[in-house]
Amino acid sequence: MKQSPYILYSDGNGNIFEDTSLLACGRSGWDALVPDPGEWIALPSGGQLYELPERRGIGIDVKTGEMRLCEKGWAVAAFIPPAFTGTYLAAYETFPEAVTLPLFCYTAVGWYKDQFYVTAVKTENDIRQLPEGFDETRIQEGVDHYLAAYPHNRLVKHLAENCCLTYHCPAARNYFLGRWECPIPSSPACNANCIGCISFQPEQESITSTQERLLFKPTAAEIVEYTVPHLISAPFPIVSFGQGCEGEPLLMWPTIREAILEIRKHTDKGSININTNGSDPSAVEELCKAGLDSIRVSMNSAREQVYTPYYRPNNYSFADVVQSLKVVNSYGGWTSINYFVFPGMTDSLEEYEALRDLIRKTGLKMIQWRNFNIDPDWYLESVHVIETGPSLGIRKMMSKLRKEFPQLRFGYFNPPMERIRGDFQSDFAR
Ligand code: SF4
Repeated sequence: MKQSPYILYSDGNGNIFEDTSLLACGRSGWDALVPDPGEWIALPSGGQLYELPERRGIGIDVKTGEMRLCEKGWAVAAFIPPAFTGTYLAAYETFPEAVTLPLFCYTAVGWYKDQFYVTAVKTENDIRQLPEGFDETRIQEGVDHYLAAYPHNRLVKHLAENCCLTYHCPAARNYFLGRWECPIPSSPACNANCIGCISFQPEQESITSTQERLLFKPTAAEIVEYTVPHLISAPFPIVSFGQGCEGEPLLMWPTIREAILEIRKHTDKGSININTNGSDPSAVEELCKAGLDSIRVSMNSAREQVYTPYYRPNNYSFADVVQSLKVVNSYGGWTSINYFVFPGMTDSLEEYEALRDLIRKTGLKMIQWRNFNIDPDWYLESVHVIETGPSLGIRKMMSKLRKEFPQLRFGYFNPPMERIRGDFQSDFAR
């Protein structure tokens, strides 16, 4: 874009308007600022707009050039779809009585010539979560088919009734469409207490988790029964332990180990992946010995002093998380971090140095640049950040890392074996 878009505001009843007396700003850390016009892209398909009660948008007066509040209504932010990473947060001033915002991402958004614009960058070619790729009729047919095929399998029942038909989880919907990544939730418990946990929020918190946690411990037989046929028949197949509807899968490592050994007796196709907080490197080693192909370790920061107040770990430390990545790398496995991007924190000079160090130390293969689904004010307060310090800008940080680590892959999703073996160009639209 050649100019910044105009700011948006809502009337509090879900109606959104542009205010052409103000250009939209972005937020980095605690600061409102003017993003370079080149940062703005058209709102991608699947994006949504949120009104932010008890918050006033911050903009630049088109006449005076002054930064001021939009007093016409509540601030507005965008939820941008997977495969795109936000480079600035929505800029607003929060009233003292404002309630905490729910667990979504709040990206800067504006309006220009009949089009919504957001500050974001495309980080993924893979189409697995494109909204137009989900055919409701075929999904329902898939659910009916698999429930009939596995009548006694509690996991398939959980994936059908909760994940697919209630939460509309893209991974579960892709499973019932017989393609790509298939989820394997396995753990009702967790050994961390993440502030923004999407499967469990303490009663005293004003926000709710976006999904309920699994209530049972699946058996290895239940896992193997539906994952082997998926690996054999699905295009670009991946089966992934560690989903949003559970706790920490490493707490179930003996069952997962047994399942991996059994799966590999039936097929060597596809990738067996685990999404984890990486808390137990010795359990990770047992899974590597059994045949684990890939690990994705979630983290809000590569700095222990930012990681720990967010994850609030029980009986493990950041050093264990780093060690888990090293273990998988030593077995020749694929290593990714599920990197929660928070403009101002992620691209701060301190974080950039810590991330470079982590990449070197662990031989990291991939960064999945995920939008951080959390109320920005609540997050910074919870990790005790008053000042985020000088920052690079998300796009600039990405290009510096690309130059320094040419082998390092960027994306948003766990790669199938075809990608792990090198084909990072295709969008797997087959
Ligand atoms: S590691 Fe996952 S399940 Fe555990 S508290 Fe954090 S977000 Fe929740």
